[in-house]
This record gives sequence, C-alpha cells and structure tokens, in this order.
Amino acid sequence: MPHDNHGSQSGDNSLNVGVGDFRDANVNVGGNGRPTFTPEQMGIRRHQALGGHSVKSENLSTFGIVTGIASVAGLYFTLFQAFPRSQHSSWSTAFIFMFAIAIFSVSVAAVIRKRKFEHFLFRKYYIEAGNHNGLYLSSFTATCPWCQSKMHLRNIGPKDGPCYDRFICERNPRQHTVDLDPTVLPEIEE
Ligand SMILES: [Zn+2]
Repeated sequence: MPHDNHGSQSGDNSLNVGVGDFRDANVNVGGNGRPTFTPEQMGIRRHQALGGHSVKSENLSTFGIVTGIASVAGLYFTLFQAFPRSQHSSWSTAFIFMFAIAIFSVSVAAVIRKRKFEHFLFRKYYIEAGNHNGLYLSSFTATCPWCQSKMHLRNIGPKDGPCYDRFICERNPRQHTVDLDPTVLPEIEE
C-alpha cells in the first residue's frame, strides 16, 4: 500500500510534490521535495524503555534543585572545612559531578515542558512527556515506505551543528531516510 502513492519526485523541488497524495502527511517536512508520510503509513512504533516507568517532571526539577544545593554546599565544606586535606580532590570531584547531574536534570525538565520530546541517550533514546507531565524514555522504529525494511529513529548531525531526528532504513541507510516531526506522534496517555 505505501507503494501506491509516492507521488512524483521530479519537478521543481517545491514542497507541494506529493501533496495531492498525502493530504494529511507531515512526518517529513524537509522542504527538499521529498515525499512525506503519516505515522500510519510508516507504521511508527514507540518502544518504552524502563518497562514504561515514568518520572514526574516536577519531581525531576525538584531533584535537580535539591541535588544542586547539596552539591554546592558539599563543595563549600570540602574546600573550606570538614574533610582532611588529603581527601579534597576526590570529594570535590564527587560534588562537581553531582552538580552536573543537577544542572542536567533541571534543564531536561525545562526543555521537555515546552517540547515534550527530546533526544536523550546514545542518539537513540528519547525523553517524552505524557499528557500529565510524566516523563518516559522511548525509542522508535518504523517500516521503510520504499523497501519495507525496518527503520530506527536516530538523532543525527554534527556535534556543534543542527541535529535531526531521522528514521533510517536498515537496508538502504543512505537514501531511505525520513525526518520526523515529533508533533505528529500520538500523545502518551497517562
Ligand atoms: Zn528502505
């Protein structure tokens, strides 16, 4: 069925290629004249990691703030009073590490509140917000609309450049790719 309606890929490279065939399609909005697909056409599947367990985003911010304060206090006492000098560097390292976790938690909670979808780990796991502020760890697969092979969602791009969330085909990873617009994904009901 996905073979029925690719639309013409020739033409003036404008966004309207295939629009007649994909009235509701908006998974791919690359603007490069490539066809677009709906989540149904691609058979997008969400896989929840951690057995579908969630964390409330408020709890994550609170955790971040408490950890942040504790690490700063810990660092202060390490450097100025409590511990014998010989142990300073290991305690400082531990508290700086804690501080990094704190900043990370607070910023993840803030970003997710707005975007509801953010790349998180190893370029293949994503944090998503459910409809009642729970945070979930998910990965995604789909079926390639060209060759029916499996596709995996990956966050790709240069380290300091813009990154894209892109479904990549296992069989033809170079040409069979579809950029994901995460707003088309169904909400996680809680
Ligand atoms: Zn393919």
